[in-house]
Amino acid sequence: MVDADGKVVMPGLIDAHRHTDFTLVQGLFSDLDGEELLKEAMSLYHTAEEALGESFFETAWDLACLRQLTHGVTTVNAMDFTPELGAAAIGKAGLRGVIGPELADFLKADSPAEQLADAREFIETHHDTHDGRVRASIAPGGEAGCSRQLWEGVEELRSEYPDLRLHTHLYDSSEAGTLAAGSGADDPLDLLETFNLLDERTLLTHLLHADQLDARRIADAGAHVLHCPTVYSYFQAGERTWFPLPALKESGANVVIGLDDPFWFDSWDLIQEAKHARLLSNFEYGAQQWSSYDLLRMLTIDAARALGLDDQVGSLEPGKRADFIVIDVDTPRHQPYSNLPSVLMNTVTAGDVETVVVDGEVLMEDRVVTSLDVENVRAAAKRERDRLQTHTGWETSLGGSTPPDKSILRRVSGRPLLRVMKQYGRGVVNQYTR
Ligand SMILES: [Zn+2]
Repeated sequence: MVDADGKVVMPGLIDAHRHTDFTLVQGLFSDLDGEELLKEAMSLYHTAEEALGESFFETAWDLACLRQLTHGVTTVNAMDFTPELGAAAIGKAGLRGVIGPELADFLKADSPAEQLADAREFIETHHDTHDGRVRASIAPGGEAGCSRQLWEGVEELRSEYPDLRLHTHLYDSSEAGTLAAGSGADDPLDLLETFNLLDERTLLTHLLHADQLDARRIADAGAHVLHCPTVYSYFQAGERTWFPLPALKESGANVVIGLDDPFWFDSWDLIQEAKHARLLSNFEYGAQQWSSYDLLRMLTIDAARALGLDDQVGSLEPGKRADFIVIDVDTPRHQPYSNLPSVLMNTVTAGDVETVVVDGEVLMEDRVVTSLDVENVRAAAKRERDRLQTHTGWETSLGGSTPPDKSILRRVSGRPLLRVMKQYGRGVVNQYTR
């Protein structure tokens, strides 16, 4: 029994788009400009597995689960290169997650056939496990990360598993059309349509370079939009554009919020992310793009609908799976107030979350985490972070981070992604913001 007398009880928050592999990078690259950061991150992709091994990624997932839990996020929609570790960590932590093994043959050395076989095995092994808390998705990286051969395989995989969500990045660079043309399509949406991948089970993230017509096509297909405002405004990699929110709203598309790579801008606070979404959209399109109640819905029931979980979570109703959080707003920080949605979206931060319950199980009560060994996770994070710094040559102090004399990018050569980066330039860099 949870005592929430006088407090706000609301559905657990749902992070609709996140990557987790590099959680331990937090703070290291944060003062770089967008392009420098992406180069460092790309080179880390290509060396981390060999140099740092499984313990690095295992710890990243454990730390991400601890962060997610203490920030009131009960469900995450993740896309990563270490999905098996994610399934184990999320399952163990008592949280809920939809996890997609990221498919990207321009980024990973494995062939499309190998990546698709691994994805199939992941689905067979991990989908609908841990009492249904852990589910799988099909997650091609996007128009910039995947070859035509890979898209063909994704179409086949999806016809085998029609109930799974298709989770991908789309239109996140001004070269998106050119990149889609490389796979024989007129534009990124045509690419998805060509392979029968655009429907109500499709989740599209970013859409920064989509136009009004694209917005209508997305809404007509019933696809969902995953918006991650902070990462793009923090680094501003490339030309500034914003997703076509007025057209998406007018067409009735479901737009929800994700943190994307929260470790690059050092925040795991989904409530702050919703605030950024509102401020940046108001900045671009004029005030009152969303009400506070709209934002609350986007973080809960709308996100549950996007993930196909609205019969289980996203609202407090009899028969659902009892995912909820408790927040105390009866404090000088929040009183007096008269508009609860506005308090929850404007003055509350994730640090105000006291208690977290998932699937009826109490995972944190009065800020004491019960489902994870916090001290163990902290010790492992410190150990693995030290190993990361030794590997990269970065030095850190309380004053900031000092890059090594030579970027690790220059120490890596002949990798598939680097060839693509040269070919397409900034477009691919933008794609992997990600
Ligand atoms: Zn992403």
